[in-house]
Amino acid sequence: MSDVRNVIIIGSGPAGYTAALYTARASLKPLVFEGAVTAGGALMNTTDVENFPGFRDGIMGPDLMDNMRAQSERFGAELIPDDVTAVDLTGDIKTVTDSAGTVHKARAVIIATGSQHRKLGLPREDELSGRGVSWCATCDGFFFKDQDIAVVGGGDTAMEEATFLSRFAKSVTVIHRRDTLRASRAMQERAFADPKITFAYDSEVAEIHGDPKLTGVTLRSTKTGETRELPVTGLFIAVGHDPRTELFTEQLNLDDEGYLTVDAPSTHTNLPGVFAAGDVVDHTYRQAITAAGTGCSAALDAERYLAALS
Ligand code: FAD
Repeated sequence: MSDVRNVIIIGSGPAGYTAALYTARASLKPLVFEGAVTAGGALMNTTDVENFPGFRDGIMGPDLMDNMRAQSERFGAELIPDDVTAVDLTGDIKTVTDSAGTVHKARAVIIATGSQHRKLGLPREDELSGRGVSWCATCDGFFFKDQDIAVVGGGDTAMEEATFLSRFAKSVTVIHRRDTLRASRAMQERAFADPKITFAYDSEVAEIHGDPKLTGVTLRSTKTGETRELPVTGLFIAVGHDPRTELFTEQLNLDDEGYLTVDAPSTHTNLPGVFAAGDVVDHTYRQAITAAGTGCSAALDAERYLAALS
């Protein structure tokens, strides 16, 4: 079956490109579906990345992804800037359908489709991403030393981010739509005990201001509709993530939050020859380096799986 590839990779973030680099260097000639509008993944939407090892002075997110892309291409990865629209992963030969309806076949598939952070849906939210608006305290907290910032959300992630950010910030205001938090008791208590953290309950962000960087938000009461201004230079949005697993729900095992499950520490899913890596699996760490790390693991797992077939 000459039209059957060794491996198809779905996704082009740090996990997908790292899997592409490793499988290309193993002479497996990977075919990578990068996505139609979001090739390069989540880091295409940010500015400075200061915590990816190897870049002493930091690197812009899109530059880092261009480098990863070029490095995988250098070793023969074939990259297609298109979306996968359907998959059949159940048999020995897997099929992957692109947006034109063309069916591609492979013995192994690596899924690295990432997860989409939920947005507030406000005008200017995307424009100010990386300019004060962030979805990742671990990534960006350091940029907000001695500044007034806000965290949106009432769950565990929001409390964790607020507590982490208070190390750097002058003040942290937690903005929550309801009058009680959803976070676990322990996480709440940590946040309540932190003198830098205050709470804006029954409040939602109505507007985001600043040009070219964030200078403040307008808060609206969810009870009375009254508005007030909150001057902040950082706004961390922690209202959840949606793993991009809609193509796989009928075929692969997912956890309660919709993430793909793997036989950790390997990247094997419940189907032979199907591997998953990066944020589509991980709701704990969600970093470029951890996604790249599991992308490497998925490539090595696929390589061993293919070697055992021959
Ligand atoms: P992603 O980067 O999300 O890539 C997923 C890829 O899958 C995308 O290319 C998408 O197009 C593709 N895809 C999805 N569905 C399909 C489909 N059906 N067909 C084809 N392709 C598909 N981490 C850090 O370590 N440091 C930082 O400074 C940092 N800053 C961040 C700033 C922002 C604004 C955001 C949102 C995240 C940041 N992160 C940072 C987190 C980091 O970006 C993610 O952890 C990492 O990108 C996850 O990599 P991934 O490969 O799993 O997924």
